Amino acid sequence: MGATVITLKPARPCPICGKPATQADHPFCSPRCADIDLNRWLSGAYVIPAAPVDEDGADEEAGAGPDGEDPDV
Ligand SMILES: [Zn+2]
Repeated sequence: MGATVITLKPARPCPICGKPATQADHPFCSPRCADIDLNRWLSGAYVIPAAPVDEDGADEEAGAGPDGEDPDV
């Protein structure tokens, strides 16, 4: 029984550009995107978080219904 699972398809896209990530540069699609991400981390390390960062993906469009009533009733 060959229990080795080889994922040919990348599970996630490149977080930088959204292209399919490669196994060589996982989770990025290329060394360039990996470098961009690294620079983001490095530059962010020098930034003092004075104000709260909005990292809460606010879904303002979620549940855009005017009312909670069911028109089918
Ligand atoms: Zn990329």
